[in-house]
Parts: sequence; C-alpha cells; structure tokens
Amino acid sequence: MAQEDVFKKLIAHCKEYGYVFQSSEVYDGLGAVYDYGQNGVELKNNIKKYWWDSMVLLHENVVGIDSAIFMHPTIWKASGHVDAFNDPLIDNKDSKKRYRADVLIEDQLARFEEKMNKEVAKAKKRFGDAFDERQFRDTNPRVLANQQKWNDLHERFSKALNDNNLEELKQIIVDQEIVCPISGSRNWTDVRQFNLMFATEMGSTSDGAMKVYLRPETAQGIFVNYLNVQKTGRMKIPFGIAQIGKAFRNEIVARQFIFRMREFEQMEMQFFVRPGSELDWFEKWKETRMKWHKALGFGDDNYRFHEHEKLAHYANAAVDVEYKFPFGFKEVEGIHSRTDFDLSQHQEYSGKKIQYYDPELGESYVPYVVETSIGVDRMFLQVISASYCEEEVEAANGKKDTRVVLKLPVALAPIKLAVMPLVKKDGLPEKAREIIDDLKFDFNCQYDEKDSIGKRYRRQDAIGTPFCVTVDHQTLEDQTVTIRSRDTMGQERVTIDKLKGIISEQTSIKALFEKLK
Ligand code: ATP
Repeated sequence: MAQEDVFKKLIAHCKEYGYVFQSSEVYDGLGAVYDYGQNGVELKNNIKKYWWDSMVLLHENVVGIDSAIFMHPTIWKASGHVDAFNDPLIDNKDSKKRYRADVLIEDQLARFEEKMNKEVAKAKKRFGDAFDERQFRDTNPRVLANQQKWNDLHERFSKALNDNNLEELKQIIVDQEIVCPISGSRNWTDVRQFNLMFATEMGSTSDGAMKVYLRPETAQGIFVNYLNVQKTGRMKIPFGIAQIGKAFRNEIVARQFIFRMREFEQMEMQFFVRPGSELDWFEKWKETRMKWHKALGFGDDNYRFHEHEKLAHYANAAVDVEYKFPFGFKEVEGIHSRTDFDLSQHQEYSGKKIQYYDPELGESYVPYVVETSIGVDRMFLQVISASYCEEEVEAANGKKDTRVVLKLPVALAPIKLAVMPLVKKDGLPEKAREIIDDLKFDFNCQYDEKDSIGKRYRRQDAIGTPFCVTVDHQTLEDQTVTIRSRDTMGQERVTIDKLKGIISEQTSIKALFEKLK
C-alpha cells in the first residue's frame, strides 16, 4: 500500500476509535487544531508519563515545574520572539495557497534523496548479498549526479537561510522549477517573513489593555523561573528543569494531521551547565534522548539525527531527532545548545541578576543551557504510525480476513485489559465486573459485553488493548479465565488471582526504563 494511503487510513482509524477528532467538527472544523478522544487522551497521558518520569524520576538533578501560558510581554521581546520568530512564506498566485519557502526547498532536497534511495534499493534487489552499498553510492553515475544536485542545493539553501536572504530563497524555488502541488504552476509571489505568535489582550484599564502573547514555546517559562527553582530547591549546577505544557504557533501551512498544529503540547527540559561544558552535555543529551526513542522498539533504522542548516540566533549546536513517518523522515525532537543567550537576555531586560555562584570555582556566572524539546503530539503520531498494522488472518469460516491492530508499546496502551463475559447471562457479567473491581485501581480496564467474542477481540485489537480476559461458565466452577494476547492472539487459561501479576509484569513502564540504563 502506498504510504499516503496508509496515512489516510491512520487518520480515519484515529477518528473511528476515539483517538483524535478534528476540533469544532460540528462547525466544519478549525484549521490545524485537534481534540483527543477517550483513547487518545490516555495514550497522550502515558506518553507524557514516559517522558516526565524518564526526566524527573530517573535523574536526581532534574526537577519539574508548571508555568503559566501567559507571561509578561517583555519576555518575548527579550527572547527574540517578537522580532525574529518568523517563517518565510510564499504564495502561489494561481491556487492562492500559502507555503513555507524553506519547506518547499526541503521537500526538493528530499526528492533527490528519494531518487538515490530508489537506485540503491533496485541494485540491492538485483545483486542480493553481494551488494556493497557504500561502493555503489560512490560510483553509480545516477546516484552521483543526484548527490551533486543535493549538495549544490543544500549549500545554496543553507547560505540563503543563514543570510536571511528572502530574494535568494525565491530564486532557488524558481531555479529548481518547484511547482505548487495544487495548481501545478510556478507562479509565485515574493517571499515574506511572517511572525508565528498569537497575540491577545489582557485586562481592561482606562489606559487600554496590555498586549500579551500565547506562549509559542514552554522554554521561556523555565528560564524566568531559573532563579526561583535554583534557590528554593538548592540546586547545584549541572541541573535541569522539565516542563510539559501547551504552546501556540500561527503556522503558515498546517499539514499532515497532528504533525503541525496551531495549538500543541511540548515536553521541554532545560539543563543548566557550567560555561564551556555545554557541548559535552549536548552530546550526552543527544545520546540519552535517542535511547528514549529507541526503547519503544519501533526499529532503530527509523531514526536519525539531522543537523540544522541554520543555527537559531541563540544556539551554538543543534540537532533534530527525526523519525520515519509515513510521509518521510521528519523532526520529532530538537536538542539545542542555547548558550547563555536566554538567561543573559532576561538579565538585561529585567535588570535583575540571574547568575549562579559556583562554589567549586569560587565565581559567579550566567549558566549555559542545553535544551531537549519534543512535541507530545508529534510523539503521539510517531507512536500511532509505528503501531498501526493490517494483518492477514484466518477467519472462523476458514476464509482470509484482515485484522487491524494497533501494536502499541504495552506500557503506553490506553486500556491495559478488557474483561468480557462470554454471554450476557448466567452470572458471567457479575463475575466479569468483580474482576474489574479488583483490578481497576492497578490498570485501566474496560468492560465489554456487546457482540460476539470475535468482534469484541477485533475491537480491542483496533484500540491496541494488549490483553482480553474472557469469563465463561468454567470460570464460575474453578475461578479460571482465558487471557488473550493482542500480538500473538494466543490464549491461555489462568486462575483469576494470577491476573494482576501477569498484567503488571507485562505492561509496567519499568520495562521501558530498564532499557534506558
Ligand atoms: P518545525 O521545523 O517542524 O517547525 P521547530 O524546529 O520550529 O519545528 P522547535 O521550535 O524546535 O520546532 O520545537 C520543538 C518541538 O516541538 C518540535 O520538535 C516538535 O516536536 C514540536 N513542535 C513544534 N512546532 C509544532 C507544531 N506546530 N505542531 C506540533 N508540534 C510542534
């Protein structure tokens, strides 16, 4: 199946099974804003818990905060967002559609990469085990020609971004003959800058209200609380502050479902270090974060680091963790060495000293910062797209059938077990409820008695529930139930008193943390 079709199915699946709904759907929706349904919110909470605990529980020098969305407007002046939180936009005059100029060029780079990968895949198939990919890439004329095109474009693009040269960005789009995917034309406007912050007004004094912003990142809430946390927690450098919260960006082009939203959630951690040690910490956090992703078991080859073409004004090193979504490798997380930029700016704009007295050095300094910043929603999309499978299975009548199953990492699954009475009579529902009453404080359980047992299994597979427990007549006699596994579809008969142990052993988040050691 083409990857685009997989993606469409995934979106439909998210809606059908209570994961993600378009916001304000009854009013025909609101662009790039989404709501999470009954299963979506549980998965999202589990992702947040995986991140939060991996930061705050597993690192004794990382603590959390929860700062407000509204902040003093000068914060955004100091951080550079008022003047520089811009994206270069371009319109196609025929379709009237708006694009990010940098994204159009990145897509063109991806096209060259795709051509090279196709040649490699073809040759791999032809030569089998004897195939030497490195040698092929170094010598095949078609690969070399595309590599050259990639290199030239990449160099020109990076320079244009770094020089903030909007005319050159437009010229690249023209020279590369990039067309609008809707109209198919090359009738482009000039490239302009567009600020991504949403503004609103606070208060209603006679002098007028104050203009405030919806925060476009959670990081600044951490920086302006650095001193509060350091002092009240008696924190010693190096230490980190973690935060999960909403962020808002008026994205020019919102596409790819929950990949790029106008209201989204971030999980950010700012790690304060001694000046000069930031690049070592940057490497450490790169490694730590990659491990966190890979522990989920979605395949190591589906991740890569991507160096930034252009460093943000505050950074001296930056890398993205990219995951292979159905629409290609894209950023899920950014790791940035932000130097002392933010704290120094807040020191200057607030007029308050924001420093750390280092007892080992016997001097005070503005700490340097390494940041890890990941979007909850992008992570959600990663988890869902890695987990969605369609499997061919044999139906009860011997015919082939397709089973749709979400093979979510069990620790993240919204519902850990469904308890089902085989029939709705003979005391089986009561017995099933009794089991749920016993387990509901430990796991998120669901009671399900509607439809045939086969249909109920499929429904739970589609939600991603790792275990189904069935109560039948034998249960009333010998206190045993069957427990069915989502992934293997294998069933086992066990006594009810064993359920808690089996399920907690298999679904505990601890197993993920073990992999992070
Ligand atoms: P992009 O280049 O995709 O716009 P970015 O580099 O601006 O992302 P950062 O400012 O580094 O992103 O934000 C950190 C993380 O927040 C990103 O890696 C991503 O997971 C998430 N994120 C950023 N913008 C959005 C958005 N509009 N919708 C959903 N998640 C987002």
